[in-house]
Amino acid sequence: MAKDFPYPIWNIEMETMDLETRKTLQLYRLKELVSYVYDRVPFYKKKFDETGIKPAEIKSLSDIAGLPFTTKGDLRDNYPYGMFAVPLDDIVRIHASSGTTGKPTVVGYTQEDIDTWSEVMARSMMSGGTTRKSIVQNAYGYGLFTGGLGAHYGAELLGASVIPISGGNTARQILVLQDFGSDVITCTPSYSLYLAEEIEKAGIDPKSLKLRYGIFGAEPWTESMRMEIEKRLPIKAINIYGLSEIIGPGVANECQEQKGMHIYDDHFYPEIINPETGEHVQDGELGELVITTLTKKGIPLIRYRTRDLTRILPGDCPCGRTHPRLDRIMGRSDDMLIIRGVNVFPSQIEEVLVQIEEVAPHYQLIVDRDHNLDVLTVMVEVNDKLFSDEIKGLEAAEKKVAHAIHQMIGISVVVKLVEPRTVARSEGKAKRVIDNRKLN
Ligand code: ADP
Ligand code: ZN
Repeated sequence: MAKDFPYPIWNIEMETMDLETRKTLQLYRLKELVSYVYDRVPFYKKKFDETGIKPAEIKSLSDIAGLPFTTKGDLRDNYPYGMFAVPLDDIVRIHASSGTTGKPTVVGYTQEDIDTWSEVMARSMMSGGTTRKSIVQNAYGYGLFTGGLGAHYGAELLGASVIPISGGNTARQILVLQDFGSDVITCTPSYSLYLAEEIEKAGIDPKSLKLRYGIFGAEPWTESMRMEIEKRLPIKAINIYGLSEIIGPGVANECQEQKGMHIYDDHFYPEIINPETGEHVQDGELGELVITTLTKKGIPLIRYRTRDLTRILPGDCPCGRTHPRLDRIMGRSDDMLIIRGVNVFPSQIEEVLVQIEEVAPHYQLIVDRDHNLDVLTVMVEVNDKLFSDEIKGLEAAEKKVAHAIHQMIGISVVVKLVEPRTVARSEGKAKRVIDNRKLN
């Protein structure tokens, strides 16, 4: 007899599989994966040979702990296609992460990978309230960024009607919300709040819209942001997680219980490690999420260090899904900031500043949220010579710095020049970043 579940589930067999059966499936897939990468990706062959790992020696799931990690640096070193496991003939899609240094992280998908991605996105969309009847306003950006096309394919597979409006153009978003009757919106959480504000400003009662669900991700957010979004739009706000290296959005997604994101561990095998030691943490403890792509063909990754900090929540979920649940992402184990969806490392800004002679590389990055949009202010010291110069010289230097940073990371920033020796210097690690967005 089929069991009843409180909410619709896209793939009952996979999403509610009993744990022992899933473990058997995971082990089978892990073994296949390890031989697959050993035979096809020189990077892994070399790593395995160096550490004396033989694919045939993987006998249990716990043997995964003996495999080497993969990092973003490894992907960069093998830029652009060096980590691909298939010839480009078999790649049907290429995306790149919003990572910014002019050398983004490049990922390739075979047709099978696109199908997997659509499958996990369909699971995510349905667990977030989408049905065949839904009209999905997809306001994630279409392009190299995985958000737009990921949500698009998932919603189509599910059978909903997708409006591929992409990001931005808020006036048009509002018109479409009003006239097309969208009941689901997909975008970043900060954009949803910006949209709420613009809807209010336009004198439209949000309750008059058909909108019921929002599937929000690609950047960190908090429970208090959720409460605000749910009050202002008013909708149910669902958290979706993913990263390009693993597949894009749809690695994990909340169900309507809204108590953690189910990670689709028939495809993405999670581990939580202590980022300092690389060892597994105790069950339920906070640590860095590491993912092995059990089924990916284009660019399969073993033990990929996401740098995202989270924990696996204990206990069963009342929705009936047996995929483990990840807590909200609490932060990063590196110093990466996400500014308007773009990944920014302080070191990139520093790299720009050292090349500009008018300023000293003493700086502080201040991040604020103004009307729900991120604003990055770069406070940097000028050198003594410029300091004694006229205002004109200072203004020109400000523009020069802003332009150079824009060239490097692709976003506009506010530059504030300050007197020499005024940026706080601390013992040991300098406080480079002040994040006023209160995301933790
Ligand atoms: P994109 O190009 O899709 O922005 P990236 O792969 O560059 O994707 O960025 C992925 C990163 O975005 C994740 O590692 C994580 O830090 C962040 N992220 C994605 N979804 C969420 C979420 N729901 N909550 C917090 N952080 C998220
Ligand atoms: Zn659930």
